[in-house]
This record gives sequence, C-alpha cells and structure tokens, in this order.
Amino acid sequence: AKCGANFVPLSPVTFLERAASVYSQRTSIIYGRTRFTWSQTYERCRRLASSLRSLNIAKNDVVSVLAPNVPAMYEMHFAVPMAGAVLNTINTRLDANNVATILRHAESKVFFVDCQFLHIAGDAIKLLAAAGGSPIPLLAVIDDVDEPTGARLGELEYESLVAAGDPRDSPHRLEDEWDPITLNYTSGTTSAPKGVVYSHRGAYLSTLSLLLQWGVGGEPVYLWSLPMFHCNGWTFTWGVAARGGTNVCIRNTCAADMYHAIAEHRVTHMCCAPTVFTILLEARPSERRSLPGPVSVLTGGAPPPAALLEQVESLGFRVTHAYGLTEATGPALVCEWRDEWDLLPAPERAQLKARQGISVLTLAEADVKDPKTMASVPRDARSQGEIVLRGSSIMKGYLKDEEATSNAFRDGWFFTGDVGVMHPDGYIQIKDRSKDVIISGGENISSVEVESVLYKHPAVLEAAVVAMPHPKWGETPCAFVTLKQGVDKKSIGERDIIAHCRKNLSHFMAPKKVVFEQELPKTNGKIQKFLLRNRAKTMTVT
Ligand code: ADP
Repeated sequence: AKCGANFVPLSPVTFLERAASVYSQRTSIIYGRTRFTWSQTYERCRRLASSLRSLNIAKNDVVSVLAPNVPAMYEMHFAVPMAGAVLNTINTRLDANNVATILRHAESKVFFVDCQFLHIAGDAIKLLAAAGGSPIPLLAVIDDVDEPTGARLGELEYESLVAAGDPRDSPHRLEDEWDPITLNYTSGTTSAPKGVVYSHRGAYLSTLSLLLQWGVGGEPVYLWSLPMFHCNGWTFTWGVAARGGTNVCIRNTCAADMYHAIAEHRVTHMCCAPTVFTILLEARPSERRSLPGPVSVLTGGAPPPAALLEQVESLGFRVTHAYGLTEATGPALVCEWRDEWDLLPAPERAQLKARQGISVLTLAEADVKDPKTMASVPRDARSQGEIVLRGSSIMKGYLKDEEATSNAFRDGWFFTGDVGVMHPDGYIQIKDRSKDVIISGGENISSVEVESVLYKHPAVLEAAVVAMPHPKWGETPCAFVTLKQGVDKKSIGERDIIAHCRKNLSHFMAPKKVVFEQELPKTNGKIQKFLLRNRAKTMTVT
C-alpha cells in the first residue's frame, strides 16, 4: 500500500458500494417497465464481476462493449472494474472496420454486444478473423432486459452471466489508484481514433468535480441522452451513483422518447451535444410534452451557437455550457454562470454562455498560448492561441502510441488543437479547431464565428462552414446549411443567406457559396467537417 495500511485508493467503484449501503431502496435505474434499486444494481454488478472472473478475466484485461444507453451498459461501468478489468465502450456509429480496428488495438478479451448491433459486431469479428494474427474475443450478447428478443451471438448472454455469478465473490482489490479503469477511443473527427486510458483516480476526481461545478445536489433524475460510450457519459455513469440519483435509460434519443421520459419520470438533469437541441426544437407538436419543472442541461462536444442557446432556454431548459475532449476525461472547461449576468438581456446572456469557460476543478490550469513562444496570449478577447491544459483529469497517454503521446504534450501542457482567445474576465472562448480555420488572403476566419451568424438567420436549422479553394484568396468560406421545418425552401436562396452574413460580418468572412442540404453528416453530435471539406474542394465560386 502507498501510504501505510490506512491508504484507500480513489475509485468511482466506491460510489456504488456506498449507494448500495446508504440509498439501498432508492430507484437506481428506470428502463421501459424495468426498475432496479441501488441494492439490486450493486448485487447485479457483483454477480457480473464474479462471472467475468470465472471467464479468467483478470487485472488490466480489456472488456469491450457496443451498446446504447441500456441498463447493462450502465452496470458494466462498475462490474468490469470490479473484476479488475478495463472497460472499453465503443461508439455505436462506427462501421465494422473501425470496430475491428479498436478490438484488435485494445486486445479485447470479451466483447459484449447489444441485440441492436449484432450485424455490425458480426462483420467486425469476420474482419478480425480474416486478417488473422489477433485472438478473437469471447462474444456475449446483451438482449433487451425489458423486451427480450432471444437474439444470440457466440456462447455467452448478459443476463445469464449476471444470474450465474456469485454476489459473495470478493471483487478485485484495487491497490493502485493509477490503475486503468476505462479505455476510450477518440471519435476520430480529425484523425484516426486513438485509445485514451483513464485511471481510477482521474475518473473519481473528475466525477466529483463535475457534480460540484454543475451543481448536482439532492436526488437527481438523470436522463441518458448523452451516449455512455462518450467519455463514460462525461463521468455521470459514476456521478449518478455518487448522488444516489435515478438513471433514466432510453434506447433512442428521438424527440418523442426524450420528451416522454422527461415528463413521465420528472427528469432534472441531462447532458447532450448542441445538435440534440435542434432535435428538441424541431419536435412536432404530437411529440412534445411540457417540462415538469426546470431541467438542467450540460451541453458540449461542439460549439453551441448563442442563438440556439437562447431558443432552447426559452423552452424551459437551463443550460450550462462545457468544453471538453476525450483526453481530458470529458469536460475541461465549464462556463460557470455569474449572478450579475442574470440582469442582462437574453441575447447578451446567450453570448456569454456560448463561451467555453473556466477550468474544471481537476485541472491545475487552463490557458491560451502562442504555440511557438509558449507565451500566454493577452486577455483581450482578440489575440488567438492554442488552448492548453494541465492537471489531474488529463490522460496519462495514448495506449501503445508513444509518438502521438509525446506530440500531444509540451512542457507538461496538453495541447488541445483548438484555437481560442482569453477574455478579460478569464473565460476562454474557442474560435476554431486548428484544422477548421479558414485562411483567406492571409486572414484567419473562424468557422465557428461565421456559423454563429448563420444560426441567427430565422430559416436556418443547422450550419457548417468549411474552406473552399479560391483562385484569388487561396481559401474562402463555403456554408452548408439545413433549413427549419415549415420554411418554404423556394423562398430562401443562396443570395439571402450571403446577404445576411455580409450584414453581420466583415465582408471577407461571409461565405461565397451556400449549399442547401437535407441533413449534415455527424458523429457524436459533431458535424463531420472533413467530409464537407472534401466536397468543397471540388466546388468553384459561382
Ligand atoms: P475528436 O477530436 O476525435 O472529435 P473528442 O470527441 O474528444 O474527439 O472531441 C473533442 C473536441 O470537440 C475538442 O477538441 C473541440 O474541438 C470540440 N469541442 C468539445 N466541446 C466543445 C465546445 N463546448 N465548444 C466548441 N468545441 C468543442
């Protein structure tokens, strides 16, 4: 033991042990007609951990899972580390090839697959077998606990493993809080996915810090609208147990299911990417339900345009904006609200809220630096630099990739690849991802800034701005937009959108081309700009 016999390593698994003891009869999970209490959740996790150990799963082995936000996915966040193993949650929107790459890279020992994703998992396993050289993981199906389908994949089945395990089997004894707890692959928006390892200690501290900064007290009723596979649900998988709250699990995040769950179960908290706001705002009247009370929403993962924040708040959601990345165990900056801002008019409040914010408690520091000189940029809201982070919630490194790890750090700072400015009040605001900045005639154009103006246009639902080649300026902004339901598409043309931008931006920043789309390509709630950039490469200014 580290500091003598009294040393207890920090681990979020203790949140569940405590919940079983102090909140034992409170509802832990609601899913369809299924209900569990904290004492049942704890017992089910102990049983699954025991079964995993009888499958010879041992310390540091990787257990992968491909599943939506169902109870099994939640339980595995505790059961897998209780077996001493490392949980690897895989993005359900990846294709078979990407899933196979992750299973191979992670050297996964068991692969749990929800009945909805058997097809993709089966294809991934075939690819793994065809490539040879890597052992195939044991396969286990997660059937729907509420409405079993009888689907099978391989030998194992989740509920049978839970039933077969012995809840008296003692769980793995954690000795070092730096041991890995989960393995999360970056979403690969800009480069190939990399495996980020979280420690028990980092996960524990990040969970507590976020609960505090978002102000989650009492008995939260938490709606799982954010996929748990995304940075372990920004740590709220563990956080809901720490508060003895209720997890409302839903399979699909469509507007009707979200509004229904919020109204039925009196949801108090939820997290989501800003694109979910457009889903909630565009819901048909038959899908909508009025909110049972104030619903606190933590949003991030992509920049929320101020106009969108204003609209969603008018529905009764109380939005907190956060910025983060996989390497920082989810949120790294939170736009903490200041009471004096309450008095400002709504558009100004939304403008302040659209800033990414100040560092979370687990970070020692967050700054904006000139990457060449390592000097902090002046706090003038104008001078741009790269957002850099330092502290306990930053990953140790990428799994089996020393080169990428050493490239990500300099002088102890983690370089995010995001371009930002520092405001005089110490709040950081993102201008762009380095790769998304548009350079027109030597001037940097922030795609986020142009998008925020597009979102102010009353007919625009979603917008993404990328660089397109220009014979004179090198690059120029090209906008891809979708229009709101009910807008007469013939009444809005490219010229109207460009004129709106020229009215609200310096002229060189206004898009020179506007492409109207039915839908924009997305992953994890982020618009896949590289796909749009590839398309824009072949376009010319008309
Ligand atoms: P990937 O880099 O593969 O998309 P992540 O899912 O970790 O992986 O995404 C992190 C990135 O998402 C950040 O570097 C940043 O560019 C973007 N991002 C996250 N939150 C915000 C936010 N609130 N505002 C603007 N951009 C954000």
